Amino acid sequence: MLQVSTVAELRAAVAGLARPVGLVPTMGALHAGHMSLVRQAREDNASVVATIFVNPTQFAPTDDLARYPRPLVEDLALFAAEQVDVVFTPDVGEMYGADFATTVRVDGPTRGFEGDERPGHFDGVATVVTKLLLQSQADVAYFGRKDAQQAAVIRRLVRDLDIPARVEILPTIREYDGLAVSSRNVYLAPEERAAAPALFLALSAMRDRFHSGVQDATELTAGVRVLLARQPLVGAIEYVALVDADTFAAWSGRGACLLIAAVRVGSVRLIDNVVLD
Ligand code: AMP
Repeated sequence: MLQVSTVAELRAAVAGLARPVGLVPTMGALHAGHMSLVRQAREDNASVVATIFVNPTQFAPTDDLARYPRPLVEDLALFAAEQVDVVFTPDVGEMYGADFATTVRVDGPTRGFEGDERPGHFDGVATVVTKLLLQSQADVAYFGRKDAQQAAVIRRLVRDLDIPARVEILPTIREYDGLAVSSRNVYLAPEERAAAPALFLALSAMRDRFHSGVQDATELTAGVRVLLARQPLVGAIEYVALVDADTFAAWSGRGACLLIAAVRVGSVRLIDNVVLD
């Protein structure tokens, strides 16, 4: 596995790779969710490029940028074990020169939910993902459905900007008790960790109701709230909604839909979703 940290080195390395090239963008602190993306990329492509970049522009000033875990040595070993060909580990200066002046701003699926709760977040994500796709010139890029709104934003920008890459969205990897695997789960105190699966369990219960014929958004979202309220360690509920999987507008009753939610457990923000179609 070759590790490179400049765009010029990345371009040179990719030029020597067999096509197709699969790209797995990450912020490091790798876990089973990331590894599922890498394995799928390995299975689908002749070559795999992975990236580790904790992108400061997608964190709000009050966010957890400073405490975001950065276990680089362990991360490199995990990628190497999955036969990643090239890992790109740029620093902030390489990605954003002092006179950097461009933002990729996606409308539509950025409205509401994470877009409201985390102002500027999707501008940061859209800009960095656009850069990574252009820098790597990958044929296929892999993202997780755990961040479903981000996935919709990336699909849209790739389509709107005619970026010649295919976007693959892969299922959420979960702990044994249903909690979506996340780099932030380590910040949960033991009793909070024990309470955290309530989010997925509430969403799953309402997925079952949906499949039994209850397709009313108000009833399903209220059901999630009632179930979450039974768990005292689940704090503020930021949102619960039934949305169109592509547009993130309220579900119209047709097409793929997601039941999405974000809650606080202790100091940690948990987001999750289930596919209802
Ligand atoms: P991050 O390092 O948090 O930016 O995540 C990098 C990629 O891994 C994104 O495409 C995420 O959606 C994906 N990802 C994070 N957690 C999971 C998970 N539990 N299951 C599947 N994919 C995930």
